[in-house]
Amino acid sequence: MSTKTSAPTQTAADQAVSKFLEYTHASTAAYFDACVHCGECAEACHFYLSTKNPIYTPIYKLQPMLKAYKRHKAPLSSIKRLFGLVPEQITKQELEEWSPLVYDSCNMCGRCTLACPMGIDIAFTIRKMREGFVAADIVPGDLRQSEKNALETGSPMRVQAKALQAQVRAQEKDCGIAIELDKKGADYLVILSSMEIMGYPEVIGSLAKIFKEAGIDWTISTKAYEATNVGIQIGSWDTARTLVQRVVDEAEHLGVKYVISPECGHAYSALRWQGPNLIGRSYDFEVIHIIELLHQLTTEGRLQMKSKNGRRLTLHDPCQIVRRGGLVKEPRALLNDVADHFEEMQGAGITNFCCGGGGGVSANSRAAKLQASAFECKMQQFNDIDGLELIVTPCANCRTVLEDGLEEHDSPLEVIGLSELLAQHLDHRQT
Ligand code: SF4
Ligand code: SF4
Repeated sequence: MSTKTSAPTQTAADQAVSKFLEYTHASTAAYFDACVHCGECAEACHFYLSTKNPIYTPIYKLQPMLKAYKRHKAPLSSIKRLFGLVPEQITKQELEEWSPLVYDSCNMCGRCTLACPMGIDIAFTIRKMREGFVAADIVPGDLRQSEKNALETGSPMRVQAKALQAQVRAQEKDCGIAIELDKKGADYLVILSSMEIMGYPEVIGSLAKIFKEAGIDWTISTKAYEATNVGIQIGSWDTARTLVQRVVDEAEHLGVKYVISPECGHAYSALRWQGPNLIGRSYDFEVIHIIELLHQLTTEGRLQMKSKNGRRLTLHDPCQIVRRGGLVKEPRALLNDVADHFEEMQGAGITNFCCGGGGGVSANSRAAKLQASAFECKMQQFNDIDGLELIVTPCANCRTVLEDGLEEHDSPLEVIGLSELLAQHLDHRQT
């Protein structure tokens, strides 16, 4: 990883352009040519909706890549270049000015992709654009620091094995169930996000209760416990590969059959969908999201609820798990098992709004004001549910963003993770 702090050079801008051009193969070119300027993507993006500022129109955020394409790769561009009929060369200053649009005003949530009538995958293209920005070393400082932390310590928040062990021991004491760390030959390896370990450690105790009840043989590794992947967020494939490889190496060393992706959105997409491509091979184990596993266990009758939560609650859909991950019905089935008053918000499911913090935005302090603005769309969804008391979300990052946003609004609404809610109402037949 580069640790440069000096201003990027023109050469760096050229490197960004090379990355853009690497990606602008036939299908991307077709994307650019297909746009009919209908504005549907703007109406889908919470950054545009909350500000009404046209610079936050999703397709507009791709301008540098479009410029590079028109200058270097579009049909007849070499001839047009001779006559000055192509866009100017992209400069480092332009990229620096564009950086807030690429990193601060996009959660890579995919809502615009879903809305585009021409099928343009704007979210994925923004991810590819971030690779160009990484090549030019134009990345928000906080994200660079998270990357450095993750590479040096395994955790973007520098949560080290000792801290994990302390949290595990505290949870063991709390729930009265022993949790074996680094267990060779366990069926399941649980990985967690630093946010869960430090902010919501009760999820560890909740999993211990659930797995004991269901008879699941599981472990947590003290060598590879971090699920999040800052490389995916900033657009550094090298970092993303290193972080995935750590989990793969440890899972294969322990000989587990499954790795459980935790309540974290992008961790799931990083390990399950992008990981095999990043490391260039399939795994010796399967990746399963905790929500999938919980759904499977309840469907098989291995988990039953002794009571239902009586509060009026709703589900916030994490984008990478629901819209881009396909787990739409599973969290709903689980909530129907455990809640008396589960109310869907307007636009729930695959069209739900992002919390505003995904894609590295919540870790990027430069974006705080914009994130707070985008949260207004989410807040409106909550306000539209009469008597709402509790928000459930299977993503620790969403949970933090929602809690912060609610606090800003002086809202009494509470937020909880799905595993934790289930554990509270579990029928402990075996314990
Ligand atoms: S991916 Fe989400 S945040 Fe990014 S431009 Fe599209 S709708 Fe907006
Ligand atoms: S929704 Fe698609 S076609 Fe319409 S302006 Fe956006 S990118 Fe272009």
